Amino acid sequence: MISFTHYHPTRVIFRRGALKELGKLSEGLGKRALVVTGRSFAVKHGYVELIRRQLEEVGVHAVYFSNVEPNPTLSTAMRCAEAAEKASADFFVAFGGGSVLDAAKAANVVYTLGGSVEDYLYPKTVDRELHPLVAIPTTHGTGSEVTRYSVLVDEKTNMKVTVSGEALYPKIAVLDPEVLANLPREQSAATGLDALSHALEAYFSKRANPFSDMFALEASKLVARYLLCAVEGVLECREQMLYASLLAGYAINFTGTNIGHGLGYPLTTKYGLPHGLANAMILPGAAVFYEAYLPERARSYLEHLHLPGLLGGLRAFLTELKRQVGAPLTLRELGVKREELEHIVSEGLRYQRNLQNSPFDFREEHARRILELVY
Ligand code: ZN
Repeated sequence: MISFTHYHPTRVIFRRGALKELGKLSEGLGKRALVVTGRSFAVKHGYVELIRRQLEEVGVHAVYFSNVEPNPTLSTAMRCAEAAEKASADFFVAFGGGSVLDAAKAANVVYTLGGSVEDYLYPKTVDRELHPLVAIPTTHGTGSEVTRYSVLVDEKTNMKVTVSGEALYPKIAVLDPEVLANLPREQSAATGLDALSHALEAYFSKRANPFSDMFALEASKLVARYLLCAVEGVLECREQMLYASLLAGYAINFTGTNIGHGLGYPLTTKYGLPHGLANAMILPGAAVFYEAYLPERARSYLEHLHLPGLLGGLRAFLTELKRQVGAPLTLRELGVKREELEHIVSEGLRYQRNLQNSPFDFREEHARRILELVY
């Protein structure tokens, strides 16, 4: 049985040098833009200036909010909304990794609709039209440029929370592979593994459908082929990874994420592990269960990646890829103590919004066993 709903309003421009078309692409969006960036990358590599010039050429005045930290908090999104208010922004330009894109998306909700970010958190959805947002990813992992999600940290509970809904889709996504030339090696590895976890979790999801499978399988194949050379800095490979992360973003719009994200979040909020590495920590353990519950699907996944009959299956594929890109392989290696595993289990189980998308009935024993497997 085939059943899905597809609505995707984002105009996607994918080509080298696309950032230099930002002015032209922004025509008609308004006269004042709030440009949202992280703290250093955009300044250090001259993108702040490039974006300002591009916008000025079409008569748009740019105001900057350059204070988004990795794993941004609700307060950061609120400060960004205040900056938009002060600037009387007609539209947003978000230039950065997933953190920047997600902070700008949530800020846009508050700036347009009022209130605070807490008023719009999952399970609520935001469907009313917002100000236009131009999303320009500078990493190859998030997929946020085409997703209807914004993931933030609630500093009161130290939990990852989400704002989601059709209104969250950016108006325009500008994917310029040349921007990735400046991506540090570690971020290439971490964000690439995030893209893989989106694709893998979309494929092994209760909510998967043939349409999302198409995106998830293709994204996975590209990551398997190009992540290593992308980490080594080859631009052609980073371009393929940017495409893979875009496809994986499309996939999770249908399926959400599940075990890698749910159990991975505590590794970020408690241990400060970058998001992509945190998911990738969990995935080899989750893979054992994906494979046990869905053996046929696991087989066709590996076949699609041209790894049929791989000894050790899905888990071996993930472990080997992680080893190649220098990602940590065990929690022990990260300094996590065995007696802390129970705490990670209970923290992870709080993410039912993710875990309920698992392709099997996810229970506490699964979480415990997965953490043992990756310890
Ligand atoms: Zn992710």
